Amino acid sequence: MAIATLDVAYIRATVEEVLSKHFPAGSEKRRVIMKEKGIEMACPICGDSQKNPRAKRGILFFHSLQYACQNEGCRSSLTGLCKDNHIQLDPEQRMAIFQYLDQQILSGAYARASGDQFVMDSLDKLMTMEQLQAYFDEGDGFLRRFRPITKRDPQHKYLVERGTPEHAIPEIYAAHAQITPSWKEEVIVLINRSPGGKVLGMQTRNLQGGLKRRFKIYNFEFLYNELHPDAHIDPIDAAPYNKLSYLFNILRVDFERPVTVFEGYLDALFYPNAIGAVGTETDFGFLTSEGVDVRFFFDNDGAGHWKAQKYLRKGFPVFLWEKLFARQLARAKGDPLENARALRMIKDLNALANATPGHDPYHTYGLEAYFSAKDGLDSHWIPAPSRADKAAYIARKSNKLPQDASLDALAAELQNLSW
Ligand SMILES: [Zn+2]
Repeated sequence: MAIATLDVAYIRATVEEVLSKHFPAGSEKRRVIMKEKGIEMACPICGDSQKNPRAKRGILFFHSLQYACQNEGCRSSLTGLCKDNHIQLDPEQRMAIFQYLDQQILSGAYARASGDQFVMDSLDKLMTMEQLQAYFDEGDGFLRRFRPITKRDPQHKYLVERGTPEHAIPEIYAAHAQITPSWKEEVIVLINRSPGGKVLGMQTRNLQGGLKRRFKIYNFEFLYNELHPDAHIDPIDAAPYNKLSYLFNILRVDFERPVTVFEGYLDALFYPNAIGAVGTETDFGFLTSEGVDVRFFFDNDGAGHWKAQKYLRKGFPVFLWEKLFARQLARAKGDPLENARALRMIKDLNALANATPGHDPYHTYGLEAYFSAKDGLDSHWIPAPSRADKAAYIARKSNKLPQDASLDALAAELQNLSW
């Protein structure tokens, strides 16, 4: 993939155009200072220091193209400054900036900056839980009766039956989703938010199993535009938020400690310091940047084995279901074959929790002990995925192959993928 780079000269010229709308020609306040992290300038929003004409307390950060001023705490972004000053970005440059930011979120620089700099600096764009509640209470939103789950709700029963830890339940919301004008159903709402209650995105899931089970993800841009129907967010500004909004718990994990990545939102509630990513479309690149101690917890099914092998080969620790099962079997009483069969029915952490009602699986099974070593020597613990498993994985990944596609067609598809 080509690396999108920032056209710094163009960004600088744009900033100078912004300044030209506020400060007289030839004045010191029009002069910018180019730094490695961004462009320092006299703040065009508050005018910067009255006393010191040389003061440049505003900075446009290159890694995020967000703007912050330390004079009066003004906040904006490149696109915000342009909009407020009636400056049109060149369409090609706009696309390049979009691609740059989209890629930035996947780079290590962004991961390191996200904790303090970018995300927190831009919290004015995140919505509060109060805003979200008020929006749904008005009654025109895509969910009705949005509320924290109480013991009377069917959602509570659903979660308890699935072994959801008690401490996690107050974090989860309930609502009615209106599927058609005459058909509504109860859903669980998992909100991706910061410890301070700022909202990045959400996922709803109904209380059905099997084929009737439905998930829906609402990313940052969608929620923002729902809540601000008259002032939609610029897609450039939304791009990094959108990426983060698919990573459940991303604002709550401690990157100084090992971070465990799951493929479902709900699973992440069962495990300390965990992120839930969605489906197979999610790009984990941002998490796998250097400096973050990340490991992967895939489901115990064909697609999960396939991915576990892939990530183990890349050098990441992955959870070894078979190793856990072997330890359990060695301890279990009764018929070993029956025990083995029962254990292998356990396909994910949720199911493991169900197997030990009332106890959280993390402590009950000492799950930390079953991640692979980084040297890949543990690969024998991962069952070799069959051809059908590979096919299932590809079908899920691409989501475009027909259900009855022949194995040969799938094999041909496999050839085109590189891993
Ligand atoms: Zn300012």
